[in-house]
Amino acid sequence: MVAIHAVPAFKDNYIWVLEESGRAAAVDPGDDAPVEEFLARRGLQLSAVIATHHHADHVGGLPALAARWKCPTFGPAREVSAELTHRFTEGERFEVPGIGIELEAIDIPGHTAGHVAFTGSGILFCGDTLFACGCGRLFEGTPPQMVASLAKLARLPKDTRVYCGHEYTLANLRFAAAVEPGNPAIAPRVAREQAKRDRGAPTLPSTLAEERATNPFLRAAEPAVRGVAEARAGRKLGDAVAVFAALREWKNAF
Ligand SMILES: [Zn+2]
Repeated sequence: MVAIHAVPAFKDNYIWVLEESGRAAAVDPGDDAPVEEFLARRGLQLSAVIATHHHADHVGGLPALAARWKCPTFGPAREVSAELTHRFTEGERFEVPGIGIELEAIDIPGHTAGHVAFTGSGILFCGDTLFACGCGRLFEGTPPQMVASLAKLARLPKDTRVYCGHEYTLANLRFAAAVEPGNPAIAPRVAREQAKRDRGAPTLPSTLAEERATNPFLRAAEPAVRGVAEARAGRKLGDAVAVFAALREWKNAF
């Protein structure tokens, strides 16, 4: 049984470390130091590094880890290419060396132009695209791209565990409550996530079922969400993409 550990980095990043029988794989290592410390503490050998997109807080530690452990590196076909030994686009699969699970790439442009997610065995590594109760900012993509990317992730099985790149959950829930004050799933989730933070635990992973129930960026087609977004924008909004864009703009200023 593969264990997945959260290794905190920087202010609010998580580097996800998969562990199986003394071997490990690191997902989105923005920094090599906390990964090395974790591996040493648990007596693990690193056998792979996986990256979802090119931002430094996700790949800053990748070259040093790959050099020290002489391990393969897996990531998006269209980003961080010089540092990757294996590159993936939509539908391509690989077995994580030493860990034994198979992951499949999903192209999810929006936060960055070549962002990918990796999914398999009920696990989703989605970087900075889908957050617990939120989504990433659109640095290199458009609202239609991000809406399509989030929809692909939302279609995965509802018990899929969502491992995203940052601990933003409580702040995201405050926004979700502002968007949907009448959503009965939000207050219980706030209580659950706050209890995790109070005992020093990550709020992650979440599940896709929780995200579908509470994440406003997956709920742009809901009449209540549209109504609030239109009231705030002071105009009618066209399709779900327009509602999403209005929500994203609101969140940026929230
Ligand atoms: Zn990013």
